[in-house]
Amino acid sequence: MEAGRKPGIRRIGIMGGTFDPIHNGHLALADAAYRQLTLDEVLFLPAGNPPHKRTRPEGATDSQRLAMVQYAISDYPQFVLDQEEMRRGGLSYTKDTLLRMKDEKPDTEFFFIIGADSLMAMDTWYHPEIICRCCHLAAAIRDEYPLEVLQGKASELEQRYHASIFMLNTPRIPISSTELRRLCREGRSIRSYVPAAVADFIEKNDIYGSQAYNERL
Ligand code: ATP
Ligand code: MG
Repeated sequence: MEAGRKPGIRRIGIMGGTFDPIHNGHLALADAAYRQLTLDEVLFLPAGNPPHKRTRPEGATDSQRLAMVQYAISDYPQFVLDQEEMRRGGLSYTKDTLLRMKDEKPDTEFFFIIGADSLMAMDTWYHPEIICRCCHLAAAIRDEYPLEVLQGKASELEQRYHASIFMLNTPRIPISSTELRRLCREGRSIRSYVPAAVADFIEKNDIYGSQAYNERL
């Protein structure tokens, strides 16, 4: 049996995000968690973002974000799309989603997969103590934070919320969805940062192009 595995208990990773658009940084992070924590699967959970609450005029629609996640994970049998938060619409809180998942799947250990920026911002999340009670945190190392700073934050969260935190050894892919939307707006290619099918879909539908942006402003 692999280290850390409890008999009869499934290990599920949860990769939440706006995914506007999903990119190779998200996929590399989820894949690192899958391998390093010997997970059974990783659920991709696009956040709800109803039109009346949309704060980013340059953003894709919900169905476009869903389609992009579907394209991106189609090459990874261990990645599964979970539409729960999007179906509910409105702002969904991670702690509610996790409580619900735990309730539905009691024989499961959950690993909430986050980037380093999310780990640093954990105290500002809604009820971090509930999040930490429901799942382990699996945090990546992104290059904007030195390792000592991340480790310091991890110890703080362990003490404050009894968090159980795993640090993932991830390749550093210094991109964000915000940056990718900007590149599109400027007419530049994002092909090195997203799977080909996602780039094709974005181009074909001119999701983040300057024309689409101006129309939505
Ligand atoms: P935005 O620019 O809109 O904030 P983003 O690229 O940061 O987008 P999110 O949807 O905010 O993507 O992030 C979802 C999760 O993925 C977060 O936990 C975030 O820390 C992590 N993440 C985002 N980009 C990277 C990356 N390049 N490498 C590792 N983790 C990442
Ligand atoms: Mg972000």
